[in-house]
Amino acid sequence: SKLRVGLLFGGRSGEHEVSIISARGIANALSAEENSHKYEIMPFYIQKDGFWQAGEVAQQVLTSGVAKEHPGNRANLWQFPPQTAEIDLWFPILHGPNGEDGTIQALLTLMQVPFVGSGVLGSATGMDKIAMKTAFAQAGLPQVKYKALTRAQIWSNPCVFPKLCDEIEATLGYPYFVKPANLGSSVGIAKVQSRQELEAALDNAATYDRRIIVEAGVVAREVECAVLGNDNPKASVIGEITFDSDFYDYETKYTQGKADLFIPAHLPESAVQQIQEKALQAFTAVDAAGLARVDFFYVEATGEILINEINTLPGFTSTSMYPQLWANTGISFPKLVDQLIQLAMERHSN
Ligand code: ATP
Ligand code: MG
Ligand code: MG
Ligand code: MG
Repeated sequence: SKLRVGLLFGGRSGEHEVSIISARGIANALSAEENSHKYEIMPFYIQKDGFWQAGEVAQQVLTSGVAKEHPGNRANLWQFPPQTAEIDLWFPILHGPNGEDGTIQALLTLMQVPFVGSGVLGSATGMDKIAMKTAFAQAGLPQVKYKALTRAQIWSNPCVFPKLCDEIEATLGYPYFVKPANLGSSVGIAKVQSRQELEAALDNAATYDRRIIVEAGVVAREVECAVLGNDNPKASVIGEITFDSDFYDYETKYTQGKADLFIPAHLPESAVQQIQEKALQAFTAVDAAGLARVDFFYVEATGEILINEINTLPGFTSTSMYPQLWANTGISFPKLVDQLIQLAMERHSN
């Protein structure tokens, strides 16, 4: 009989819409001839308010690609759809908070059913840019200089705030990237060139997250590597992103034609090897499992390679970097989702 795969998408995050598109990509790949005899897809849609929908409502969102909201009663928030009990394996394809950060992974762990991707620790460490950078530093991975801050420091005392900004200016040179620590798709990120912009960006980032990071900006090419596996992960070929905008912001990421992907990236062979090696080290450093996309800065003039971040549930639409990197490494989209499911079962039984 077929394995019943619970495809979990949507989610209480700013990347809700992206998740729906990723889920469509995976549903397509699971319906491909080589997979359809093995797997039965059961869609589960998490609304923006956190309520779960299965059956027809979830299928409709998956088919149409359009978010839906059936206002739920808070008292029933923990009543999951009855189909939940029928799932053999979960495939969460949720991006950002409440999905990529270990929260859903904790729930699925408690359900005692295998699931695709990283567990609680890998997800949480990968999502929080401060914890992530601490793990990377411990693993000896080169990265930009940064300063970690909290919302409380930014908002509490009007006398403390200028000192905080002075401290940043004393340690890092402009421009800076100010980021909420636990987000994705560049939501809440600002590039700042002056004290005035720094103050505004810190205030804005604090509206998204309790934890904030300020990084030294680099001028570099942006390259990414896909990782697949559990304890013996493999690295893909390298991809490069190019764009005309100031940085790879939300609009550039999700507006058709604003960014181009080059796979494989034109890089010296030694750089390719170093990036692949660092991607695998990063994967292990945060305790990722199944899949991750690791993003780097390549400083062409010096050959320097700096790790930017890891994404434990990267974009998974048919045009996304992660599946395209594997397609170019010899693993088709349908084969990729099949392998991810096999890896989830392997990890569960260990
Ligand atoms: P994702 O959608 O990949 O999860 P994210 O929201 O986690 O993205 P980052 O990857 O940290 O955000 O940053 C988004 C973009 O901002 C980068 O791709 C790059 O264009 C720019 N950027 C971020 N940090 C720096 C930096 N320190 N120096 C130069 N550019 C940067
Ligand atoms: Mg990210
Ligand atoms: Mg992300
Ligand atoms: Mg990124």
